[in-house]
Amino acid sequence: MLKFCLKNMDILFSQSAKGVICQYQFYLERRQLFLLTKHANNSYSSLSVSTHGAFSLLRFSHAKMLKCWKCGVEKEAIKEVFCSKCNFIQEPHDTKNFFQLFDIKESFDIDTKLLTNSYRRLQNIIHPDKFSNKSSEEKNISQEYSSLINRAYNTLQLPLNRALHILQLKGEKIDEDQKVVDTEFLMKIMEINEEIENAENPEQLKMLNEQNKRVISEICKKISICFKNNDIEEAKRYIVQLKYYNSISHHVNGILRTRGIVD
Ligand SMILES: [Zn+2]
Repeated sequence: MLKFCLKNMDILFSQSAKGVICQYQFYLERRQLFLLTKHANNSYSSLSVSTHGAFSLLRFSHAKMLKCWKCGVEKEAIKEVFCSKCNFIQEPHDTKNFFQLFDIKESFDIDTKLLTNSYRRLQNIIHPDKFSNKSSEEKNISQEYSSLINRAYNTLQLPLNRALHILQLKGEKIDEDQKVVDTEFLMKIMEINEEIENAENPEQLKMLNEQNKRVISEICKKISICFKNNDIEEAKRYIVQLKYYNSISHHVNGILRTRGIVD
């Protein structure tokens, strides 16, 4: 398998115009085989090697990311939070992809327990409180790391934000004119909001809230299918709908709270 990979590597790199390869090294991380390559211009790239011998280009990273900022030792794993030699905190390996930050599978149907566990584990070791007696560099890294994982956690936890993040990773976004959905749909949303406004008792509000939760759950199932089928345009259509039902949820919960009712 490796022979096959190495034979194909030259083709891949000549196609991607990365120039001459100086060094390469295989490493295993979470049972996945990676090929780390150092190029003539001192840049690094990391490739995952599948069991079928095919390559997929993961990312290009700068040399500094693969070395500890404090002692300069080469990192054993790109994702390590603390240097294996000097034990100083390292900058996050990926600030753009929140799934990678938590080391979970990139999918709309995430395991929220895994996400929460990973979040707590990370927050537990990088929280700024743990660095109160450390150098200003370490304090800064821990603060930035901590606020990044808070933002990432809040994004991945909520289906709407998670869907928007997946779109962003795919280089897609909801266009402004896409927000105007069909009139029939908008009428339905208006009617629900009126029902909420006119609700006379808490039971009615709670019932409307439950009804809305069911609709949200159905839309999430549809978004999941769209992402699985890589049907991005259809996914966007449902994400726009989800935005409207989310605002209904805020509306009804806001009223419940102001009336002192906990749902
Ligand atoms: Zn170090």
